[in-house]
Amino acid sequence: MKTAFHLEQLVRPNVIKMQAYASARSEFTGVADIYLDANENPYESDINRYPDPLQKKLKEKIGRLKNISASNIFLGNGSDEVIDLLIRIFCRPGEDEIIVLPPTYGMYKVSAALSDVGVKSIPLQPNFQPKVVDILDNVTSQSKLLFICTPNNPTANNIDESAIIQLLENFPGIVVIDEAYIDFSTQKSSLSLLDQFPNLVIMQTFSKAWGLAGIRLGMGFASTAIIQLFNKVKPPYNINSLTQSAAQQALDNLDQKDQMLRDILEQRTLLQEALSKFDFVEHIYPSDTNFLLVRVTAPKAIYQFLLTQKIIVRDRSNTLLCEGCLRFTVGTAEENQQLISALQKFINRQT
Ligand SMILES: *Cc1c(COP(=O)(O)O)cnc(C)c1O
Repeated sequence: MKTAFHLEQLVRPNVIKMQAYASARSEFTGVADIYLDANENPYESDINRYPDPLQKKLKEKIGRLKNISASNIFLGNGSDEVIDLLIRIFCRPGEDEIIVLPPTYGMYKVSAALSDVGVKSIPLQPNFQPKVVDILDNVTSQSKLLFICTPNNPTANNIDESAIIQLLENFPGIVVIDEAYIDFSTQKSSLSLLDQFPNLVIMQTFSKAWGLAGIRLGMGFASTAIIQLFNKVKPPYNINSLTQSAAQQALDNLDQKDQMLRDILEQRTLLQEALSKFDFVEHIYPSDTNFLLVRVTAPKAIYQFLLTQKIIVRDRSNTLLCEGCLRFTVGTAEENQQLISALQKFINRQT
């Protein structure tokens, strides 16, 4: 890094000062015969006890898969909780700001707004790559977090690694890399950069490639010092027992995930080919994700027609740099076929 990195100087003073909640399960971590410490209901089932507040077993499994220490992992109730806690750890309400690079994921801005934290938007270039110089020119001492989503939603592309490195080297706050779609990507994860950059936080999720959006499990990877801050401020039992066991089961059955991943990538190619044949399709952006951003001649009409066919896609036609675009999530072979049939029907209807 150009300038020395002092984590304590970035953290909100109240977070440094506060005492973490000492839960029954964090005060006693051994094994006992009788647990009368947490006011639980004693009648045993799989879920009458509070869950492990630090999700040790689950983190061990994730750590083995990602080749990273459990002490560099934080687990949140979805990436949404990771985003929210980052903002609450680093940004003083009414004073600090985050930097986002639109068009991008909407939750960064929403979480900031809830915490009364400012949002500075530095749009991507028309090629959907960040303007590194512009970003750095706009940094102030209040700029605490920079969110980079790669592959980016809704533009579907990877952010160039050279831009990521330049920002990591020169942004004076924390650089958060959201890798929700990394499993679909040809780009490799930035996890290998963790050792070099104490200001790096990487987010991944069980919601997309793993097929587990319903369990709400997001991952944060960072230095042990940053992970300790997360653990200090998180709700004591933020990952429930059912989620922890469902995730462990998925991690014990990697073949299942790999098969789904292969199928989705194959379907992405097929869907792209089928869509490209329609005259109303002006451009299909290259995708490193499980969705396609498609510029069409009549986005609103197509969106509305698909609704009448009970098919819901995302209308991004009013989004900066995505004018005229719809976003199609890659579905099953059958679902994609129905989408194509419906679009054919849209054309027939017009003529
Ligand atoms: C879908 C998505 C997520 C996932 O959020 P969860 O809260 O983990 O479900 C995170 N970031 C981006 C950019 C996404 O598109």
